[in-house]
Amino acid sequence: MKRVPFTKDQLEAIVTKYPTPFHIYDEKAIRENARELHKAFSWNEGYKEYFAVKALPNPVICKILAEEGCGFDCSSLTELMLSKALGVTGSNIKFSSNATPAEEFEFARALGATINLDDISHIDFLAKHGGIPEVISCRYNPGGDFVAGNAVMGSPGEAKYGFTRPQLTEGFNRLMALGVKEFGLHAFLASNILDERYYPALAKTLFITAAELMEDTGAKIAFINLSGGVGIPYKPEDKKQDIFQIAGDVEKAYNEVFGPLGIKPAIFTELGRYMTGPYGYLVSRVLHQKHTHKEYVGLDACAANLMRPAMYGAYHHITIMGKEGAPRDHMYDVTGALCENNDKFAIDRMLPEVDIGDLLVIHDTGAHGHAMGYNYNGRLRSAEVLLKEDGSTELIRRAETPKDYFATIDFLGLNDIV
Ligand SMILES: *Cc1c(COP(=O)(O)O)cnc(C)c1O
Repeated sequence: MKRVPFTKDQLEAIVTKYPTPFHIYDEKAIRENARELHKAFSWNEGYKEYFAVKALPNPVICKILAEEGCGFDCSSLTELMLSKALGVTGSNIKFSSNATPAEEFEFARALGATINLDDISHIDFLAKHGGIPEVISCRYNPGGDFVAGNAVMGSPGEAKYGFTRPQLTEGFNRLMALGVKEFGLHAFLASNILDERYYPALAKTLFITAAELMEDTGAKIAFINLSGGVGIPYKPEDKKQDIFQIAGDVEKAYNEVFGPLGIKPAIFTELGRYMTGPYGYLVSRVLHQKHTHKEYVGLDACAANLMRPAMYGAYHHITIMGKEGAPRDHMYDVTGALCENNDKFAIDRMLPEVDIGDLLVIHDTGAHGHAMGYNYNGRLRSAEVLLKEDGSTELIRRAETPKDYFATIDFLGLNDIV
C-alpha cells in the first residue's frame, strides 16, 4: 500500500495555510534516500551524485540535496543561474546540454562547470564560445536498442543525444590536440527503468568504451557518468529499486574492466526522478462530481500542475484522505479543468467512494511534476510546500497569480485589471 506522510487532520491543517492545489515535498524522506545512495556508492572514492535540476528546480530542495553532498546537473541558462545562486559552482556542476546556445556554454565555462559535450560539432562551437577546458566529458550514444539481460530498456538509436562510437575516438583526439588533459564519459540510454540490471549494464558499456578510448587515443579517463534513468515505484505493485544491489553490480563491472588497467576513475550519477520523485505529492480538493457516460471527479488541480498522465499516460497513484483503508470499489476518471480531454490524472481508476470536498492526493510528483507545469488555458502554476523534518511546513514557491500570467504582455492595461 502506498502511503502519504501526513494524516487527514494534518493535511486539513496544512491547507488552511496554503490553498489547494500545491505540491508538498517530504524533506526527511529526500535526505534519507540521498544518504542511502551515497552509502551504496561509497566503494568508489570519487563518487558524486549531480542532482538533475530539471526534475525539481526549487532552490530549497536543491539546497537540501547540496547539503547531502550532491552537485547539480544543469542543461540550461536558468538552471546554471540557480546553481550559481546556491553557491554551487566549478566541478560541482555538470553541464549536460544539447542544441546549446552560445551564451549558455559561455556562462557554464565562466562558472567552471564541467561540460558534457553532446556532439562532435560542439568541439569547435565550444572552442569559439567559452573555450576548451582541461577537463571535459563526452556523451556516448551506442545506437540501436539498449539491452540488459533479456530486456530491451531503451532505443538510443532513436535518441537525439550523444556521439557515435567512431566520433568518440575522433573527438577525444581533437580535444587532446586542443589541450584537454582529462576526460569523462557519459551516457543516458533509458528512462524510469525498474530493473536493477540497467545501471550495471550501462556502466559496463561505458567502462569498456572508456578502456578502448584510453587504448585508442592515450586519453586519461577521470570519471564515468552513469547519468539518470533509475526508476521509481509509481504503481502499488512496483518495488523500490535496491540501490545497494545496483551499486554493488556496478562495482563488480568496475573491478572487472578497470582492475587490470590499474585505474580508478570516479563514478558520477545524475539521478533526478530517483532523488525526489517519490517524495512529492500534489494535493488537491474535489470540486465536482459528474455522472454522464462515465463517472467523473473534477479537481482544482489540472494537467498544468502535473503533465505526466496527459503526456505519457503515466500512472500516478491516488489517495483520498481519510479513506486510506476503504475498499476501492468505485470507478472514476479523475479530471482537471483544462479544455483538453487528456486532462485526466486517472482513467477508469478504482477508488473509494469520492465525495465533493475530499482532499485528493496524487503521489510521486516530486520529479518532473511541478517542473513540467505550463500555463495552457490561462491556468496558473501552483505553490510548492516543504514538509520539514519536524513536521512543520514552509512555503518554498508561492502560487502564480494572474499578474504573473500577464507579466510578459504588459499592455491593454492588463496589469491594471489584475
Ligand atoms: C533528465 C536527465 C537526467 C535525470 O533523469 P532521471 O530519469 O530523472 O533520473 C540526468 N541526466 C541528463 C543529462 C538528463 O537530461
